[in-house]
Amino acid sequence: MSRTLIEGGYLIPMDKPYAVVADGIVAIDGNRITYAGPRGGLDARAFAAAITINAKGRAVLPGLINTHIHLIGAYLKGLTEDVSGQLSAGLWKRAVPIAFKHVHDEDWYAGCLTHAMEMLCTGTTTIVSQFLKEHLAAPAMRDLGIRAVMSQEIFEVDALKLNAAVMDRPMQPGKLEEGLELSRRLHADWHGRENGRITTRISPAGPGFTSQEGLIASAALADELGLGLNVHVAEVPGETEFVLQRYGKRPIQFLDELGLLSERTIGIHTVFLNDDDIARIARTGMHISHTSYHVAKRGYFPPMEKVYAAGCNVTWGSDWCSNDLWKFMNMGILHPRAHSGDLTMLDGWRALHMATMGGARSIGMDREIGSLEAGKKADIILVDLDTPWCRPVRTDNLPSNLVYNATGSDVTDVIVDGRIVVREKKVTIVDAPAVLKETQERAERIWARADAVFGG
Ligand SMILES: [Zn+2]
Repeated sequence: MSRTLIEGGYLIPMDKPYAVVADGIVAIDGNRITYAGPRGGLDARAFAAAITINAKGRAVLPGLINTHIHLIGAYLKGLTEDVSGQLSAGLWKRAVPIAFKHVHDEDWYAGCLTHAMEMLCTGTTTIVSQFLKEHLAAPAMRDLGIRAVMSQEIFEVDALKLNAAVMDRPMQPGKLEEGLELSRRLHADWHGRENGRITTRISPAGPGFTSQEGLIASAALADELGLGLNVHVAEVPGETEFVLQRYGKRPIQFLDELGLLSERTIGIHTVFLNDDDIARIARTGMHISHTSYHVAKRGYFPPMEKVYAAGCNVTWGSDWCSNDLWKFMNMGILHPRAHSGDLTMLDGWRALHMATMGGARSIGMDREIGSLEAGKKADIILVDLDTPWCRPVRTDNLPSNLVYNATGSDVTDVIVDGRIVVREKKVTIVDAPAVLKETQERAERIWARADAVFGG
C-alpha cells in the first residue's frame, strides 16, 4: 500500500482531552499513521505521498466504533418502531419472525453489506457484530473493507415463542453445542483475516436466551481462545422477571456470580439497572454498549446519569435498524441531561471519546485504533464543516459543534486500515447502487414470505 497525506483539516486526535489542531496534517504509510499533528511538524515533501487528500473545511477524526450490531437488521428498516402493543412489540411481532425465520441464507450477503455500508458511510470504521449465522456475514465485511469483530450468537430458547410475558423458556436440545461449534469454526476461519482487520469474539445471547450451562461454556471457550465476550443483559422487559424466577437473582448479579462480568466483557443494552447492578458493573470493569437511540425507540432508557457518575466504561452500539452513531451520541447526552438537569455528566468531546477510545478499549484494541497517533492503524474519517449547520467554526468548541450539529451524512471520506473506502461520500470498494438494488429486491421477497407479521 502506498503513502497518503491528509492535509489542511481540523484534527480532533482524541489523544488528549479537548485537543483540536487547526490546519493539521496526517501521514499514513501502508496501514499505519506515521504522523498526526500541526502542519509544521512534518516535511510533507520528503514524505512523498502518492495520494493527497485536501481536508480544508473538514474535521479529521479517528473512525467511530460501534460496539453492538446485528447486520441482518438491514431487512427491518422502519418496520419495528411504530408497532403498537406492549413494550418491544416491534421486536417480538416483526423483527424476530423476519430475522429468525424468513431471511434465507442467500439473503445475508447483500443485507449485511447494506447495513455495514450505512455504518461506514456515516463514519463508523469498526463494528462489533453478532448474530445467528455470522459465517454468512463475514464475507460481506471482508469485501466492504470495514474493521469487524464478529461472533456467532449462542441462542438456545425458541425466539419465535418469546415475548415479554413468556416465563416458560425451555432450552432447545442441541442449540448450545451447535452455537459453540459455529463459534469455534468462525474463529478458525476468520480470526486475524485480512491482515488482522477481521477478528472474533464469543457471544452468549444473554441470560434471557441462553442457559446457565451455556453462559459458563461460552466463558470457558472465550478463555480457551483468548477472546472477549459480548452478552445482552438487562435488555428487554421480561428478562429480569424470567431470571429472577429461574435463578432468584437479577440478570447483572447472576452474570457477576458466574464470573462473566469483567473487563473482557461488553454488556449490551444494560437498560433495567438498579443501584446494585450499576455498582457491580463499575467494580468489575465490564464495558457497556449503550444503545441510546435504539432503546429510546422502544420506550425505555437506562439510568445513564447514575451509570456515568459511577465511572463505567460506556461505548455506543446501534443494535440494528438505525446505525448513524451521531444520533446515538446526541440521544445519549440529551436524554439523561433533560431527565436529570445535570449539564456536566457528558459533553460533546466525551461522547466522541466514548465513540473512539472507549470503543477501542472495550474490545482490547486501544493500542491499535481509537485515536490519531503515530503508530496506530489508519482508521480515519473526514467530516464536512462547510455546511450551514456547522459554520461558523471555532477551533476550541469543534467537538461540541460536531456532536450537536453534524450527522453521519456529513462524513465525506473514510479510511480503514490505510485504505480509502469512502471518497467524497461514495463507497469506492463495492458497487453500492447495485447492492442497494439487490437488498431492496431481496427484502420484498422476505416481506412477502413474512406477510402474516404485517397484519394487526
Ligand atoms: Zn442485540
